[in-house]
Amino acid sequence: MPEQPRSRRQTRAAILTHLLQSGGSFRPPLAKAVRLSEASLSRILFDLKAEGLIEEVRRPAPYVGGPTGLVSLDSTVALAAVELTAQWLSIGVGGLAGELNYTERLPLPKTPSVETVGRVFRESMTLLRDWTRRRRITLAQIGVSIPGLGRLTAAGNPIIPCDVARISGMIGEMFAGVPLEFTNSVVAHATFHRCRTQDYPFTGTHLFVFVSHGVAGAWMDDPTEADALQPVELGHMVFGPGGPRCRCGHHGCVEAYTSLPALAELLDISEAELLQLGSEWVHAVPLSARVRQELRRRLFRLGLAIGNTLNVKPCGGVAISGWPSLLADDDRNAVIEGIDACLLGGRTLAQVSVAFVPPSTGNDPQAALAFAAFCLASRGGMATSSTEAA
Ligand SMILES: [Zn+2]
Repeated sequence: MPEQPRSRRQTRAAILTHLLQSGGSFRPPLAKAVRLSEASLSRILFDLKAEGLIEEVRRPAPYVGGPTGLVSLDSTVALAAVELTAQWLSIGVGGLAGELNYTERLPLPKTPSVETVGRVFRESMTLLRDWTRRRRITLAQIGVSIPGLGRLTAAGNPIIPCDVARISGMIGEMFAGVPLEFTNSVVAHATFHRCRTQDYPFTGTHLFVFVSHGVAGAWMDDPTEADALQPVELGHMVFGPGGPRCRCGHHGCVEAYTSLPALAELLDISEAELLQLGSEWVHAVPLSARVRQELRRRLFRLGLAIGNTLNVKPCGGVAISGWPSLLADDDRNAVIEGIDACLLGGRTLAQVSVAFVPPSTGNDPQAALAFAAFCLASRGGMATSSTEAA
């Protein structure tokens, strides 16, 4: 494929996102990964270091005569993470490597409204501002993750009521000059896995599927492209208009069969108990033959939803995160059978590989923190307003 000329921003973004996803790199492999000569890389690293975005620490050479400077993202960069979940609003301040130095969770009211959710946002952002002021910390980025955020959000969020424009204005006033980005929670979790899961199975374009309180997908593309992360509402594919009611207002969505609340109901425990058990539920809750069969039927349906999504937009890889990943191969194979059963040509012919990655439900605000790091890295660490010629 012919090389497209890259702008300065894209080249810096390629370096920073590579360091974010790899956790650090010696110069020669870094130059190769971002397709630069070592001399060009050296010049850009000089700038990035001067701007406090990267650091280089002496490390024992991996081989005789090998390099000794390990390049990584600067550990003093401070990012704010804000993550809305079904139960609470989670906030935190952390670094590019994923460590959190401050976290707070403010509960949402039982029946949240635009007003009450807005109030919880204001309260938590005040805590965040006080915390950073006391420590004289200047934030490099704020990342906000909201379930159900998408094209239709301007007309009201169907998942958790909140007025994103108003919240954005409020945060913008409280943290003037700090870059602020909002995203759908599935994109935040996809970013979290891409940057923090060891041996993440895909490097190229793929579909990430998140099975949590809701069910959703995200297209994962080249991180230096403007539309690198796109949410896909595959969870609201309707399988039976007479089926269980979904939180989106429709009936029989795949989410209404496979989300955590639907799983809790099938297991005959409360959702709170299920969340409390975390990944342990798979050992703690015995499955009768009937429940196991129903579980497989639902996973098959999830597979159909994924296969249909791939029929619409083909791609070579699917990473699935969530409770299905905890099951034994026997059970979770039902997802793969579902994909096979509807993907045009079947999974093998379509050359789709499927990988299960661990669930990340309940780790908030880690996903928002990873998203904030991604925002900073993918704009090359440059100001949001600066324009440049390609
Ligand atoms: Zn739905």
